[in-house]
Amino acid sequence: MIYPWQQQQWQTLQNAVTEGRLPHALLLTGKQGVGKLDFAKSFADFMLCQDPQNQTTCGKCHSCQLFDAGTHPDFNLIAAEEGGVIKVDQVRNMVEQNSLTPHISSNKLYLFVDADSMNIAASNSLLKTLEEPSPNSLIILITSRPDLLSATIRSRCQQIKFNPPSQGQAIEWLTTQTTNTDAKTLLNLAQGSPLTALKIDHEDQKELNDSVFADFGRVIFGKSDPVKVANEWQKHDLKLIFNWLTIWVIDVIRLKYNDSEPMINSADKLKALLKIASAFTLEQLFELYEKQLQTGRLLDKQVSKPLLVESFLVSCVLNR
Ligand SMILES: [Zn+2]
Repeated sequence: MIYPWQQQQWQTLQNAVTEGRLPHALLLTGKQGVGKLDFAKSFADFMLCQDPQNQTTCGKCHSCQLFDAGTHPDFNLIAAEEGGVIKVDQVRNMVEQNSLTPHISSNKLYLFVDADSMNIAASNSLLKTLEEPSPNSLIILITSRPDLLSATIRSRCQQIKFNPPSQGQAIEWLTTQTTNTDAKTLLNLAQGSPLTALKIDHEDQKELNDSVFADFGRVIFGKSDPVKVANEWQKHDLKLIFNWLTIWVIDVIRLKYNDSEPMINSADKLKALLKIASAFTLEQLFELYEKQLQTGRLLDKQVSKPLLVESFLVSCVLNR
């Protein structure tokens, strides 16, 4: 994927391809969360595509299909294991591969993720390859810390820099990716990196999703005061909460019908959903579903929201 703020870098590489002066090695630099890896993958996909069109991949050829499936034999992603380093064996393996002709495409692609995590032996081994590049192979190094790479490696690569987008452009993009209405705060938390902002948003949402679900479960089984929970929920986006409730109630109904092969949306909450499914009759669940839809619709109207949510939650309490 090419993000809107990467057009210039994309054009630079396209021009180099057209004019036949693409170097053997690229070094993509820029802070974490500006989309370097997605950009590199898109460019790799493009370089491997058998029928590129208008500076983009065709998306249909054998190469594109293999690339999308993550099984392209001419594409190699080299990365450290969690918290580790890129080891010399990984680079040697790459050198071996590189001596062979491409399988499907006319190029071979090597993508080093967080290239600065190479240990010294790996770095020396890579340097040799960079000094004697083989035709039809492209090495792309990605790093947010180019200063940690050896100067000789850096000098063998053409550097492509990625800056974070302007605040306006980042906010414009973020609002197309999230329902969070405070894109500016998210972006500030991420120090201007849009992808980091999105990640923070998703993590926050996951946390809220879990805590709302826990509240809901406690209310059902009479372990939390519905009035207190209703007040707590007022701090959040109630439309979002009621969308989640719809998903959960439908999941429970599905489990009630067929608990052997559950096709549910919230698989992470399976155990708790099964507990709810076994506590309610199907009739009660449909009532709950109706009530929950009704409440969700009334949220748009001019009514007292705390009262509305409270009345919904009271109606959820089992054996009241
Ligand atoms: Zn293609």
